[in-house]
Amino acid sequence: MAFTLQERQILGIHGLLPPKVETQDIQTLRFQKNLKKMTDPLEKYIYLMGIQERNERLFYRVLMEDIEELMPIVYTPTVGLACTQYGHIFRRPKGLFISILDRGHVRSILDNWPETNVSAVVVTDGERILGLGDLGVYGMGIPVGKLCLYTACAGIRPEKCLPVVIDVGTNNETLLKDPFYMGLYQKRDRSQAYDDLIDEFMEAVVNKYGQDTLIQFEDFGNHNAFRFLRKYREKYCTFNDDIQGTASVALAGLLAAQRAIGKPITQHKLLFLGAGEAALGIANLIVMAMMEAGMTQAEAQEKIWMYDAHGLLVKKSDNNQEAFVHDSPGDVHSFLDAVNTIKPTAIIGVAGAGRLFTHDVIKVMGTFNERPIIFALSNPTNKAECTAEEAYTLTDGRCLFASGSPFGPVTLSNGQVFTPGQGNNAYIFPGVALAVILSGVRHISDTVFLEAAKALAEQLTDEELAEGRLYPPLSNIREVSVQIAIKAMEYVYSKGMAFHYPEPMDKNGFIRATVWNTSYDSFLPDTYDCPFFNKIPI
Ligand code: NAP
Ligand code: MN
Repeated sequence: MAFTLQERQILGIHGLLPPKVETQDIQTLRFQKNLKKMTDPLEKYIYLMGIQERNERLFYRVLMEDIEELMPIVYTPTVGLACTQYGHIFRRPKGLFISILDRGHVRSILDNWPETNVSAVVVTDGERILGLGDLGVYGMGIPVGKLCLYTACAGIRPEKCLPVVIDVGTNNETLLKDPFYMGLYQKRDRSQAYDDLIDEFMEAVVNKYGQDTLIQFEDFGNHNAFRFLRKYREKYCTFNDDIQGTASVALAGLLAAQRAIGKPITQHKLLFLGAGEAALGIANLIVMAMMEAGMTQAEAQEKIWMYDAHGLLVKKSDNNQEAFVHDSPGDVHSFLDAVNTIKPTAIIGVAGAGRLFTHDVIKVMGTFNERPIIFALSNPTNKAECTAEEAYTLTDGRCLFASGSPFGPVTLSNGQVFTPGQGNNAYIFPGVALAVILSGVRHISDTVFLEAAKALAEQLTDEELAEGRLYPPLSNIREVSVQIAIKAMEYVYSKGMAFHYPEPMDKNGFIRATVWNTSYDSFLPDTYDCPFFNKIPI
């Protein structure tokens, strides 16, 4: 409907559309009004994905104009629901599906992807989708949603983004019995063939799209996530968002909290619930931040405790999280015992196992901390360790709270209003990805995520901090991502990690000039008169 009269005539579609030429503003308004009428988040998701298919620019325009409202639809928590229902709500495929049966032919599959100029890939094998567990190929919603944010938050052109699901089977019994399931009906292949497939995939991607193609690992199971990060980080331009992106956003929240409390990070003591990808990623980055502030590694590690499905990590336990394993502090039989014994200044929930910050845990945090830090980072909402309301009411509004999925503002009985922050890696990965792509970084070090955390924490104003926020409002996420990209670019150039030269001196202007915009291109060919063609030589 936005084609001009001339475009319609030239394209041979005149008369196939109603006579009115619509502006994108009017189209946006139509979609916004329709969305407002819908009450079911999944219905909104299906509707939005439909717009993405029919009119990508309009989709991003709608998404960007109302990112705070719509991010919970295209991203957590609704994307989680969409993944569990993927085979049931399926309309058209998005992204690339590579199965273990395709071994030896991954390159041919990549060649079927219609875009030739991909800069960023988000890949999952569907084993640990949010806190929902193994969803097999139904996990495709995650790479699709993440890459939507590459474009909506960082202005990366959508055709440069490739979502991929690697299908090696699923151990989800429900899906294996689901007639609508869309992946291989087999248990996960955990043999060498799986590793060979991932190897082949990595090679095929850089072979086709270049060595500096960014490959983001997302929602792999714990064991594979760490293994592949170690294996590939020096070989490819890759990062694991659940380990490194999450670390960065959590550290940014802590840096903001320390501003509110007025106590340096080195004086904090942290207790994690969960000791997996997110926990270890966050803990290691906190150690780096503490070391920057003058502590030794051992001193920093002493400040961090972890409590997993088997209890507190102490020396006799059999595990591989060595750095955060300490002498037993005494009898600890529950997380509440651990809180009471360790007396942390912060508890960080990343277990993906639901409401484990009980009322007692929250209350007790408020007894020995003037301003307890309570992060319930597990996704989606029903996996969060506690709600925002529980955290604020049970600490009389004293806590500094953040959650992985969004919670609305909380009003206490005395009328005080708190706006909880969303501690989600969505604040980090779009800006970092933008910087990496624009600077031609070959390998992404953890220090880049440290810089991104600092840049994010700096974005929070004192007024926002006073409202109880630990992150800038989501409505600012585009500007925040640009600022993170600027800081990350300055950092990688200063450390000699960038490969695109000449180095842009005005990084701010350079980044803003590359940002994709959603206005329509003209379809009119470049027509002009040329006097030569009128002259017939005699
Ligand atoms: P993971 O590697 O599988 O780790 C989960 C950890 O939680 C494991 O250490 C596990 O212990 C522990 N755990 C499970 N059930 C528990 C229980 N009942 N009590 C105590 N500990 C328990 O998963 P992950 O990648 O770290 O992700 C965990 C959660 O964080 C998910 O919900 C995910 O959505 C969320 N997350 C949030 C963000 C964000 O940006 N906010 C980013 C990434 C992940 P065992 O190993 O002993 O079973
Ligand atoms: Mn994830």
